[in-house]
Amino acid sequence: MNSIYGPVASWRLGRSLGVDLICSEEKICSFNCLYCQLEKTKKISKQRELFVSVNRLIKELSVALKKTTSDVITLSGTGEPTLAKNLDEVIQMIRELSKLPIAILTNSTLLNDKFVRDSLSKIDIIIAKLDAPNQEIFQTVNRPLKEISFQQTINGIKKMKEEFTGKFALQMMFIKENKDYASDLAELAREINPDEVQINTPLRPCPVQPLSKTELERIEKEFTGLNTLSVYNSTKPKTDPLDKLEIFKRRRLVR
Ligand code: SF4
Repeated sequence: MNSIYGPVASWRLGRSLGVDLICSEEKICSFNCLYCQLEKTKKISKQRELFVSVNRLIKELSVALKKTTSDVITLSGTGEPTLAKNLDEVIQMIRELSKLPIAILTNSTLLNDKFVRDSLSKIDIIIAKLDAPNQEIFQTVNRPLKEISFQQTINGIKKMKEEFTGKFALQMMFIKENKDYASDLAELAREINPDEVQINTPLRPCPVQPLSKTELERIEKEFTGLNTLSVYNSTKPKTDPLDKLEIFKRRRLVR
């Protein structure tokens, strides 16, 4: 598995060149979301570790940047990218190699950690997950590691938003289990005051069914006054990935 993949056609970021800081056949994450396309989390952890060396990332990213054109470099991959202990070093390395904006897709659980926030303050776009308005729905939808609470996670999101000077977006995945809580989530979003709320439902193959376009439109109406982007109403750019098979494998579409 390569640590650099794509560029993938992202409905929220354009042509996104992925940097996988975990790069493991089995996902490593502090959540075990009901809708995860990477299957059940066998290694559920909030322990920060070294997964991929900076030297390896430099080599693979340098090659990828010569061969492709992208709009953004996105820290993401096979699990929660902030679990990578060398996050700060990796960001610095990407800045040296490229002028492209750097984004992260994070599940928000480590935003409570000042070291993580300090590292993320050096990037351009943070897309932070928020699927639940309370502990009960948090447990049902995200199924976190038991030491992680809803309140801690919300506190981390709020601190990150206050300190961050780049674009801060909330990503919300709606499924059957949280669809009736859109109004509470909108209320919470107003408190956080993000630059954008990304309203999503799992359209890629995963263990749960997506909501319909009509259901998502009803949900989006609850977010009046906020800047929203919905998966059904967005367009994806054309991309020319370095290795299409790698993307299919990452999405568990082929083995
Ligand atoms: S946070 Fe992302 S990688 Fe982790 S379980 Fe949820 S969907 Fe999967």
